[in-house]
Amino acid sequence: MLIFIFLALLGFSCAMPSSLNAIPKEQWVRYCYKDAAAATQLGKYVDLAVQKWLPAIAVSSLNIQLDPRAGGTPSTYCDQLGTPAEPVIDALVISSEPLDSCVTSTTNGYDWSEMDTSYRNTLEFCNYKNNPTQAEEDLWVAMLAHEFGHAVGLLHENQRPDKDHHVKFNCNNLVGWNQAVVATANDVNKFFTPHSSITARMKAVYFPNAVDYIKGDNIAKYQYKPLTEEPRTAPRPQDADWKTYVRSIVFDFESVMLYGSYEASSSPGSLLVLERVGTPDPVFNGGGNADPALKQLSTGDIARVAQMYDMQTPTGDDAKDPDNWGQA
Ligand SMILES: [Zn+2]
Repeated sequence: MLIFIFLALLGFSCAMPSSLNAIPKEQWVRYCYKDAAAATQLGKYVDLAVQKWLPAIAVSSLNIQLDPRAGGTPSTYCDQLGTPAEPVIDALVISSEPLDSCVTSTTNGYDWSEMDTSYRNTLEFCNYKNNPTQAEEDLWVAMLAHEFGHAVGLLHENQRPDKDHHVKFNCNNLVGWNQAVVATANDVNKFFTPHSSITARMKAVYFPNAVDYIKGDNIAKYQYKPLTEEPRTAPRPQDADWKTYVRSIVFDFESVMLYGSYEASSSPGSLLVLERVGTPDPVFNGGGNADPALKQLSTGDIARVAQMYDMQTPTGDDAKDPDNWGQA
């Protein structure tokens, strides 16, 4: 069985810029396709993934659309969007990479740091193959819906600074763990002195990416930036700030941004990588559904988008749901 790992490239989490003069306020994730492969292979699934975001779009200033410079034509690829007057391509560049050549990933939010650089916001999909089954298509749509969450500026729910109160990570159930233990103990490449611990070796060289990406490292806490300013100010690692960042008092087990228990498991269906504290039952993102076709944004996801992309209307204010999900 193929293992799919959802992950975000680590980065600052910033909301999309506002469109000028729009009332009510609009902030778009504007995307384009890198080339014909991306448009023809992924277009249908991107459209379906965007549909899963409609409940959040309805109550926020967020919109997710093809870059208007493409004139409504997906086959107007990213490198055709620039003009002499507006040469920088800051749209989300969607690409379809060769199967398993990479791990599907998306930059987090809008990159305000290199405004003169093209192709700095990216969604790389690395799972496409010809003649997919319905189940694979459903999974791709769910994966793309999750990736758009990163493009919107959301981090993984299981990377919340208070995660240890709610979920436990069984690293030894990760695919590749046992092989890494053997490689670590043997240290055939002589990376380490004999007295260095197995744990240090694992973290440093032999299994760093899964540990880092799946467990995270309080990144919301250390990469927090205020969400209501454009552009953002410097990171503020004060303890109190993560609550403002997360803007939620409830750990959301139904979030589309949570890892499922069996993602990257060495034995999906039996060995849980992510375990809910206090229960042996697996968790599934996107509403708690194991079936990718049924995955959807949770109430918490919608509330967070309404907070982060403040529509500044009564409807938007209601969706922030401060009683259950955090501070208004
Ligand atoms: Zn992710």
